[in-house]
Amino acid sequence: MLKKIIQEEQIQKAKKYIEKGNSFVIIAHVAPDGDALGASLGLFHYLNTCGKDKVTVVAPNCFPAYYRWMPGAKDMVIHERYPDFAEQLILEAEVIFCLDFNEPKRAGKLSETLTAAKGRKIMIDHHLHPANFCRVIMSYPEISSTSELIFRFICRMGMYDAISKPAAECIYTGMMTDTGAFTYNSNKPEIYTIIAELLKKGIDKDLIYRKVYQVYSESRLRLMGYVLNEKMKVYPQQHTALITLSQEELKRFQYTTGDTEGFVNLPLSIDGIEFSAFIREDPDCVKVSLRSVGDFPCNEFASRYFGGGGHKNASGGEFFGSPADAVEAFEKALNESGPDKRIGQTYRISEG
Ligand code: 5GP
Ligand code: MN
Repeated sequence: MLKKIIQEEQIQKAKKYIEKGNSFVIIAHVAPDGDALGASLGLFHYLNTCGKDKVTVVAPNCFPAYYRWMPGAKDMVIHERYPDFAEQLILEAEVIFCLDFNEPKRAGKLSETLTAAKGRKIMIDHHLHPANFCRVIMSYPEISSTSELIFRFICRMGMYDAISKPAAECIYTGMMTDTGAFTYNSNKPEIYTIIAELLKKGIDKDLIYRKVYQVYSESRLRLMGYVLNEKMKVYPQQHTALITLSQEELKRFQYTTGDTEGFVNLPLSIDGIEFSAFIREDPDCVKVSLRSVGDFPCNEFASRYFGGGGHKNASGGEFFGSPADAVEAFEKALNESGPDKRIGQTYRISEG
């Protein structure tokens, strides 16, 4: 029996919206990750199982190829490809789920449509400080993935039996990817109670791991080698490392979406490094990814210097300018607010 995390009133309201609703849109955040996809598709399968036939998952833009196997992924509507259709679906939906994000801005180019839409909006999310744009807000930052919240939500409606194997596969994928395959934010025993339930639904967790983490291209692995050998800058005094990649370098290694996933975590395997940044030149902006181990709140760093946010140990933001300017801004920020500035709170394994 799981502890009750989600407030009863929220469950009842959302349940009523589902029962009465005919058309549903589930929105994932921009650059959907495994959790955004897992939560969205998990809920999608659940609603289908309940007999709801007008359910669409809409994402602002593409997701990495290694998530294409996820059941239902092929039926998603990507706004970047079909803008008019995606917007029409959102504007006409009676119920709109906003999953794994806490403010309209995170829906990227869908944010205006989402704000304008009249359907009943339900947020299910685990990011701090949810904006007030939904009728029902289930926001639980202490839970490590939105996918876990979807499992809890369905069970609390008394509908465990309606979780199909495809739904369970999606939910597991989100739980796995938002915890780095259960290597961080994953000490709560109930996570494993839920995994046991998902296994009973017939999922093959080892296969899901392989489908997500062991399907990269040769050029991606070579890019990783290049990054580690030539592009990683270490700031020993600040217990920090930085990797930067330009468009030219990405093209040289035939970059496709998702190829740099996980790069930001690599420097954290160095003893003494507790903060890692990855700066990537994208076509429309410079993307900044931040990770930390221990107490250093990289979400505060992301929001203060890069207009972003996220979780304590995993966050991101954007920079508008050249990659060189982004590095300069990062180094200035590091000097102001790096881990070494939080005397007494730093986390160093070697010092035990
Ligand atoms: P990633 O580095 O994998 O792109 O993002 C890690 C986490 O940081 C995401 O799950 C999300 O919570 C947060 N994040 C990344 N980019 C942004 C951003 O531009 N704005 C905000 N608010 N959060 C972001
Ligand atoms: Mn998430």
